[in-house]
Parts: sequence; structure tokens; C-alpha cells
Amino acid sequence: MKKKTRATVLLIHGGCGSTPPTAAQLKTIETALDRGERLLQRGASALDAVEAAVVVLEKSGRFNAGKGSKRQMDGVLRMDASVMNGRDLSAGAVAAMEGILTPIRAARLVMERTPHLLLVGKSAEGLARLFRLPHLSPSLAAPSPPSEELSFGKWEALFRKLQGAKKNEKGKRGTVGAVARDTEGNVAAGTSTGGIRLMLPGRVGDSPLIGAGTYADNRSGAVSMTGLGEAIIRAGLAKEIALTMEGGVEAEEAGRGALIRMRRRIGGEAGAIILSADGGFALLHTTDYMPGGYRAGRRRKVGGQFQRVMED
Ligand code: ASP
Repeated sequence: MKKKTRATVLLIHGGCGSTPPTAAQLKTIETALDRGERLLQRGASALDAVEAAVVVLEKSGRFNAGKGSKRQMDGVLRMDASVMNGRDLSAGAVAAMEGILTPIRAARLVMERTPHLLLVGKSAEGLARLFRLPHLSPSLAAPSPPSEELSFGKWEALFRKLQGAKKNEKGKRGTVGAVARDTEGNVAAGTSTGGIRLMLPGRVGDSPLIGAGTYADNRSGAVSMTGLGEAIIRAGLAKEIALTMEGGVEAEEAGRGALIRMRRRIGGEAGAIILSADGGFALLHTTDYMPGGYRAGRRRKVGGQFQRVMED
């Protein structure tokens, strides 16, 4: 008997913030959608499509992930990423990893080649090197300015600088993420980031945390978040949205409710790409902009704004 083929869906975000995307960023999103959609049409898994799309964005240097990652306040570029497969709830992640061009692939290695879920720092980088993942160029991998030992005085200066900064303000490059459904109806999600604009060395946000920045389950759907990690983690947003969909609520309503609840109780701006197991989807943001795009049969779009979530 021939297996029933499901319509494929792919959604991408390139971070959320207050500035519109550049034409080059939108073009890169288009390329990432092309890459992922082609794979899905050839029968590849949702996980392969998510990884391939995110790799395009990481390698472009036009987003705050992989090559384009922001530096932490000691001048070091540390990256976070995670992936999750909705078919069996397997997941993998890396955090505070240096020197690797494609952190999403490192996250997948953790998932498929180790018994663990999250590796951090030098160990994550070691695993990625063992499996010959491409490195960042030496000029990007080197700290700028050269990192020194953190003295108490320096720490206080960093901390004061951070307190004086507008935490939510975003630079032009955003975190990236993708969610997909394949022809077998499996869903997957992935997120990759260099963090937020001003952050203490060693800070880790929501993107590598399953249930916060990323979640996928064939019974509910797939979610990738962007926005202020400190708020998203406390709200457990990706899992909350997935659970709400499992209860029969549609993607848009599930996301809207979760984003508004987070804003009211915790504060913090965010955006989400949400795909329900039945193929319904939504791209939502509380910020002015969230570059992104989707491919779902004849429905397709690339742009800087999707559905803006505001309080009633
Ligand atoms: N969520 C990311 C973090 O907090 C940043 C972002 O999405 O803009 O690390």
C-alpha cells in the first residue's frame, strides 16, 4: 500500500527587533527556504531541512549566528544552538561554543553521536572538531580585544556597563531558527544564535534550551523562538506553545496567548515561528520586525514583518 504523503511546510526566522531587515538578509532567507524546501520535496526529513536552512543563515554572516555572531563583553564570540526531532523527541544542543562555523550541526552531533543532550564550551567545540565541522576564520575566532583574566575591577566595570545599557535593544543581525514538516508528517525545530547585544562572558540564553527556545513533537508541532532569552526561559515558551497546540488550539492562538502572558508577567519582547502537527502555522512577533519567511505549497512569503502581537 502506498504511504500517504503529507504537504511539506518550512518556516524560518532571522531574529526579532526594532529595525527592518536589509535586502541582503531577505535574499539569504530566500536561499535558505529554497535549500530546505528542495530537500523536503525530495523526501528528506524535517530535521535535514531545518539543519540545511539554518546552516545557510549561519554561514552567511548576515545574522547573529555562526559567522555573524555577536561578541560577548570580553570580546569572545560564543554561540548557542539546538535541534529537536518531533518524531521521537530526540534533541541536542551546544552552548557557549567558540570557533565553529555551523553550531546547528554541532547540536545535531550531540543528539546523534553522544548519549547527552547539551554540551558546553570547549567540550562542545572539541566534539565539533572531532567530526570535522568547519571552523570560523581565525580573525573571527580570535577575541577582540584580546581577552584578559577577569579581575574583580573589570567585572564591576562590565556589570555597570550592562546595567546602563538598554537590554532589549537589538543590533541589526538577529538569531535564526527554522521549523519544518516533511512528507511523512514528522516535524522538527532548530535555533542558532550568538546571544544578545550586550552580555557578560558566559551568558547563555534560551536558544540552546529545549522547551524554552526550541521544541518539536509530532503530537503538537514545532516551535523556534527569538527575543530576550532571560524572559523566554522563565516562561518556558516553546514548550508552552507546543502543549497548548496539543490541546487542540491553533498555532496562531497558542503563540499569541503565550507571548502576551510572558509580556504581562515577566516583560520582554519575543518572536516565534510555530508549526502545528496538522500543517497550520504562524509567524508572530511582539517587536516591530521579525525577518523571516515560509513555504507551504503555494503559500510563500519572505519579509520583515508578519503578525504583530499586541495587547488588546
Ligand atoms: N533569544 C536569543 C538569546 O537570548 C537572542 C535573540 O533571539 O535575539 O540569546
